[in-house]
Amino acid sequence: MDFFTYHNGELHCEEVPLSRIAQEVGTPVYVYSQRTLERHAQVFTQAFANLNAMICFAVKSNSNIHILRVLAEQGIGADIVSGGELYRALKAGIPREKILFAGVGKKADEMEYALSEDIFMFNVESMEELDLLQATAKRLNKTASVALRVNPDVDARTHPYISTGLKENKFGIPMESALESYRYAHSLSCIRVRGIHCHIGSQLTAIEPFVDAFVIIKNLVRELLSENIPIEYIDMGGGLGITYDQEKPPLPTELAAAIAPHLKEVPCRLILEPGRAIAGNTGAFLTRVLFTKDNGSRKFLIVDGAMNDLARPSLYGSFHDIRPAVVREGNTEVVDIVGPVCESGDFFAKNRPLPPCHPGDILSLMSAGAYGFTMSSNYNSRPRAAEVLVSGDRYRVIRQRETYEDLTRLEELS
Ligand SMILES: *Cc1c(COP(=O)(O)O)cnc(C)c1O
Repeated sequence: MDFFTYHNGELHCEEVPLSRIAQEVGTPVYVYSQRTLERHAQVFTQAFANLNAMICFAVKSNSNIHILRVLAEQGIGADIVSGGELYRALKAGIPREKILFAGVGKKADEMEYALSEDIFMFNVESMEELDLLQATAKRLNKTASVALRVNPDVDARTHPYISTGLKENKFGIPMESALESYRYAHSLSCIRVRGIHCHIGSQLTAIEPFVDAFVIIKNLVRELLSENIPIEYIDMGGGLGITYDQEKPPLPTELAAAIAPHLKEVPCRLILEPGRAIAGNTGAFLTRVLFTKDNGSRKFLIVDGAMNDLARPSLYGSFHDIRPAVVREGNTEVVDIVGPVCESGDFFAKNRPLPPCHPGDILSLMSAGAYGFTMSSNYNSRPRAAEVLVSGDRYRVIRQRETYEDLTRLEELS
C-alpha cells in the first residue's frame, strides 16, 4: 500500500504532482511519502503488538535523519551497522535504549562510541569480535549487552547477494559452535548475554524460511536456558520482501501469526529489524529523459539519473516499475532506460514497454525508498541527488542536492 497514484493522467505523491517536484527541485531526486512511511510503521507495529515485539528499523535501507525522525515518532527503534548510522540514529532522536548494533566487521572505535552512548545491544558475529568488545568495554568500565548472531543454514530463496543465512555466507556463527560460543560469551566479565540473533536474507517472499529459522533458533534457546545462559530476546532480523513487480510477499500479520505459536514456547521477547518492508514502497526516484536514441535494433531512453544514484538494477539486476509522471497518448514502445555513466551496466531497465517518451519527460522509478539513496555514490563525479519528503499537499527538501563544491570539499589543494 502506498500513496503514489495517478490523478487526471498525472502521477502524484499524496496530493503533490511529481512533475511539480521535478520542476522545482530538479532531477534526479528521491521523493518519499510521509503518509506511506507512517502507515507502514503502524502496520508493522500493530501486526506484532500482541507479541510485544520491539521493532528496530534497518537504518542501512534509508538513513536520512528526517525519515528516521518520522519513524522515531512512531515508536520505532534502529538497527545500525556502523558508527555513522549510530550518529544518524541519535541525531534523529531514536532513543539509545532502542538501538541495536549489528554487522560482521565492527571496529574498536565504533564499539567505543556505541558503549559510551549506552545503546541497547550488540549483535556479535564472531569470537574475535566478542574478545574485542570485552576488551573495549573493560577499558571503558562498561558492560556490553550482547546477542550472538547465529547462522541457521536456511535458504532464504532470494538473490545470492542478499541471501545471508546459508553456511557459505560470511555472516553469523555456525550452529555447531553456537553453544560453545555462548558459554564463552557468558564467561566474559564485561559481556552480558541477553539474546540471540539471526537474519537470513533480504527481499524474502515466502514465509517458510522465517519459520524454519525460528524453529531452529527456538530449539537452541531452550538448550541455552537449560544451561542457565539467559536469553531474553530473540531477534529475527529483517528481510520481509515487498512488491517491486509481481511478487506476493507475506503480510506482517501473516508473519506474526506464523511465528506466534513458536514464540509462546520460550520466555523471550521478539525483536524485528525490517528495512525494505517499511521504507521500500515509500519512495520514488525521479529522473528526466535527456535524449532518445534508436540504433536500429534497440531503442534507448537516456535519462539524467544513473547507477550512482540508484544502484539496484545494475547491482542485482533488480526490477523497478517505471511510470511516466505525465502519461502521453500513443503506442507503447519497448525501450532500454539507461543513464549517463560510462559503464554498460548503467541501466534502470531493459526491454521495458513504456508509453511514448520525449526529451524533457519525467520518469518515476517506483519502490526506491529502500537501498536507493543509501547506496548512492559520486561515481563519475556526479553530485548526489536531492531528497524530498511529501506530506499531504506539501513537500520539503530533506537533503539538498550536492554541489560541485561538495565534490572536492575534502580534497584541498595546498
Ligand atoms: C540488511 C539487514 C536488515 C534489513 O533487511 P531488510 O531486507 O531491508 O528488511 C536487518 N538486519 C540485518 C542484520 C541486516 O543485515
